[in-house]
Amino acid sequence: MKTIKVSIVTPDGPVYESDVEMVSTKAQSGELGVLPGHIPMVAPLQIGAVRLKKAGKTELVAVSGGFLEVRPTQVTILAQTAETAGSIDIERAKEAKARAEQRLSGNKSDVDVKRAELALRRSTNRINVFENRI
Ligand code: ATP
Repeated sequence: MKTIKVSIVTPDGPVYESDVEMVSTKAQSGELGVLPGHIPMVAPLQIGAVRLKKAGKTELVAVSGGFLEVRPTQVTILAQTAETAGSIDIERAKEAKARAEQRLSGNKSDVDVKRAELALRRSTNRINVFENRI
């Protein structure tokens, strides 16, 4: 089976590196799947899961936006934050989700709604990746 090298990098350093058969994630323009031999490209990403398929298994990494770059032998994902399923602190994510939901319910006059919505999306994404639901 052909593979391509995938690196997921954040401002804090590398989070994931492996040779995979397929990488798929949510670009701003929609679902994006990359197989070995894909044409070079750059795509902005949404908050979402990166699915990495190898040897019949799929690993998940939660990313909160950034860019995916495809080069002939390598895919690089530059993400604002990235966590493998195993490194997610589920209690922290649940607390962040509850905080965001609290801010978005009721009187929003003193709430930065956009910021709370993004926090809700990040925390929901982490919970889904932790629970392997994506
Ligand atoms: P919180 O309110 O809990 O800080 P957040 O969505 O505002 O959540 P970010 O700003 O996206 O947090 O991330 C800050 C740093 O904390 C990043 O390095 C990110 O990888 C890490 N991080 C955030 N939430 C979690 C989590 N639930 N488990 C593991 N690492 C996390």
